[in-house]
Amino acid sequence: MMEKDDSPDVIVIGGGLAGLTTAALLARAGKAVTLFEQSSREIGGRARTSIDNGYYFNQGPHALFLADVGAKVLQELGVSYTGGEPPATGLGIRDAKKYRVLTNSSSPSLTPVSDFNSEDVFAKFSDLLNKTDFTELENISVTEWIERNFHDADAIALLKALISLTTYGNDPDIQSAGSALHQVHLYNLGGVMYVDRGWQTLVDGLVAAAKNAKARIVMGKKATKVQRNSSGWLVTLSDQSQISAEILVIAAGPNEAQALFHEGEKIEALSKAVKEARPVRLACLDVALSNLPQKDALFALGIDSPLYFSVHSPYAELAPPNGALIHVAKYLGSSIKPNPKEDEKELEELLDLMQPGWRQVLVKKRPLPSMVLSNTLVTAANGGLSGRVDPKIEEGLYVVGDWVGQEGLLSNASFASARRAAQLIQNELAGGSRGTGQRPSISESVPS
Ligand SMILES: Cc1cc2nc3c(=O)[nH]c(=O)nc-3n(C[C@H](O)[C@H](O)[C@H](O)COP(=O)(O)OP(=O)(O)OC[C@H]3O[C@@H](n4cnc5c(N)ncnc54)[C@H](O)[C@@H]3O)c2cc1C
Repeated sequence: MMEKDDSPDVIVIGGGLAGLTTAALLARAGKAVTLFEQSSREIGGRARTSIDNGYYFNQGPHALFLADVGAKVLQELGVSYTGGEPPATGLGIRDAKKYRVLTNSSSPSLTPVSDFNSEDVFAKFSDLLNKTDFTELENISVTEWIERNFHDADAIALLKALISLTTYGNDPDIQSAGSALHQVHLYNLGGVMYVDRGWQTLVDGLVAAAKNAKARIVMGKKATKVQRNSSGWLVTLSDQSQISAEILVIAAGPNEAQALFHEGEKIEALSKAVKEARPVRLACLDVALSNLPQKDALFALGIDSPLYFSVHSPYAELAPPNGALIHVAKYLGSSIKPNPKEDEKELEELLDLMQPGWRQVLVKKRPLPSMVLSNTLVTAANGGLSGRVDPKIEEGLYVVGDWVGQEGLLSNASFASARRAAQLIQNELAGGSRGTGQRPSISESVPS
């Protein structure tokens, strides 16, 4: 059985940020695009937001880096959004106590984390970043770079915590310094935004951009198999229908991408990406309160523990009037095993410290014990970003996502790889590099 409209130029598998961006860019360039998302109800993958009683729950803390590639791609596609920028202030947590540590801390009653002046450390750090060629630091680890430049143990711990904050990683001994430090630099340049009504705003904007340009978005159909045919790629869907196109873009994780190919037809570049992937995880607790017990305790970062606390709702429309939406999280990195019960207890203790009385005003808490933040850590051993797989796997076959391409971390890797793939696909279709370049006919696409 063939899908209706069974001969697009491009098939995209996956409706997260990467797939939607690719579809929107190609559709705007005049290509006929069909995107399949396995979920029947929700589009957006990890960038989805669920709404509960007027509270907007992103899947864990989500902050848009305003100077990074994602913001540029969204602008290019005419996706508009509003929100607020949290200031670079807050508390450090050490020995389960609150300390004044981040710049401009609004809590003068708290003691500094140590006798060093954290503002001097941040000033020296920013100064170094301004002079750094990040591409030269791809092969060295975060720890190596920090220890070359700083010698005080507290300063080192503080900077590692700052890198966890901006990259969500927790593997400083193996994480590549180049992209990690670049991420901090981008934060210094443009800050971050918490988006009104959550990242679903971005997802919905991308869906609208794709649909306005006549891309077809099909929900509730999972791609189960892909294989080459005479005119490009034949994709089999969960309802056994099939569809064919000259170009195939897989916008799912490396394991899901690999699983689409039959044994014996596995693609070497994908097998390598699967083998080398080190998923980075975060244990999250998303919390809605009817009001905020401590109005000025809005942000904290663990200095001797990989913990994050941030009240997002003062900066963006994420909760009803007086309500508060808080994200607490533990950076598991690529090596700490999730321990859902213990991790949740630890996150609740952080809430006790920052917002005593929160249990009395609790509306809802949602633990997400092992979220995949990124499908692979960018490591020094793999040469940093250059170790990630290219979007173009071979003629007619592309991958996009947070594990692909030589640009960006987190969602910015998804946006950047989508943009790169869209450019390469347009070149390929313009060049008619394979076959006649004509759309496949139904008779060519249907297996006999
Ligand atoms: C807790 C958490 C916090 C984060 N915070 C930030 C942040 O602050 N800043 C930032 O920049 N980034 C952040 N990120 C990262 C960001 O959410 C992701 O990088 C981005 O959403 C990934 O988009 P994607 O399209 O590459 O992948 P996904 O969102 O995983 O999308 C893949 C899609 O493909 C679909 N799919 C898979 N297989 C198939 C198939 N066979 N057929 C059909 N459909 C299929 C899936 O259902 C899914 O919808 C965070 C992520 C997490 C988990």
